[in-house]
Amino acid sequence: MAKMYEIAVTAQLPGRALEMLRERFNVRVHSGPTMLEAEDVAGWAEGADALITLTANPVTSLVMDQCSGLRVIANCAVGFDNIDCAEARRQGIWVTNTPDVLTEATADLTWALILGVTRRIVEADTFLRAGSFKGWQLDLMTGAGLQGRTLGIIGFGRIGRAVARRAPAFGMRVMATPSSWPTEAFEDVIFADVETLVSSSDVLSIHCPLNDHTRGMLDEGRLRRMRRGAFLINTARGPVIDEAALVQVLEDGHLGGVGLDVFAQEPEVHAGLLGRKDAVLLPHIGSATREARSEMAELAARNVIAVLAGEEPPSPVVRGR
Ligand code: NAP
Repeated sequence: MAKMYEIAVTAQLPGRALEMLRERFNVRVHSGPTMLEAEDVAGWAEGADALITLTANPVTSLVMDQCSGLRVIANCAVGFDNIDCAEARRQGIWVTNTPDVLTEATADLTWALILGVTRRIVEADTFLRAGSFKGWQLDLMTGAGLQGRTLGIIGFGRIGRAVARRAPAFGMRVMATPSSWPTEAFEDVIFADVETLVSSSDVLSIHCPLNDHTRGMLDEGRLRRMRRGAFLINTARGPVIDEAALVQVLEDGHLGGVGLDVFAQEPEVHAGLLGRKDAVLLPHIGSATREARSEMAELAARNVIAVLAGEEPPSPVVRGR
């Protein structure tokens, strides 16, 4: 009889993903708190042929050494900075991610943050609930208009482009960092380097992956070179911004505000951000629509099924053996 493959999943999955896997394999699904330590992931995945992970699960060399039967690590996210891809390559393990299916949801959330911070939505909601609304006033909770302003996009990939496509509806002109993918469809976009975007944008939005080149990209110097009163949005990964420097720059009143969906040390949030009215802070929900999350989980399942059938997975990041 053919071997029944063992699949370790680090969290409950939405949609049909678990059903798809259980029709074919032995599946174990972790319940309880998210596994934030590599030791826990390793213990859970021991003896498995495939591992389905979340972005919060570190998959280090320790995990791969301890789980020597692993053939595929299927991340249920487009970002894969939680996985030591160099080690996976060395060990011949496939790594896959879930691009495309979350693009529109994350672009929508980016715009929710842009509007939320420029129009002070959270602050105004809190104000009203506190019983402070005493009647319409001309100067009550005035924010910043977007029409005619410049939106800078760092990382002109799938999500960056989806954010750009929404910009004309708000009357914004778009600048973006160059991309190695075709850009003919974006003839109104002005391409420039990060330094130019930093100093030219009224709203600067980050959509590049986290890697050795982008970690700390928005350091104190660049944050201070942003336009006075400009807004910074991050739905990519927290460590792309130097968070301590950001707090200092906000303290100094240099920026108009920030909209952050991601943080340097999740789930911790820098104490200097928590009390700020000019910061809209979200618990990493960029892709959190029911539709996108189900499709992400199902794509992760399809990646596992393909690799274990000896086929090319739909969205490979690292090619295994
Ligand atoms: P993608 O399609 O791979 O796009 C990434 C883009 O970043 C590419 O255009 C790439 O350039 C560009 N890039 C890479 N390094 C760069 C650098 N040093 N400077 C400027 N641009 C750089 O990925 P995506 O689907 O748009 O997702 C982007 C990121 O968003 C993911 O990596 C993930 O971390 C994050 N994300 C977060 C959430 C959330 O819940 N908040 C949800 C989804 C994704 P090329 O075009 O030249 O390759």
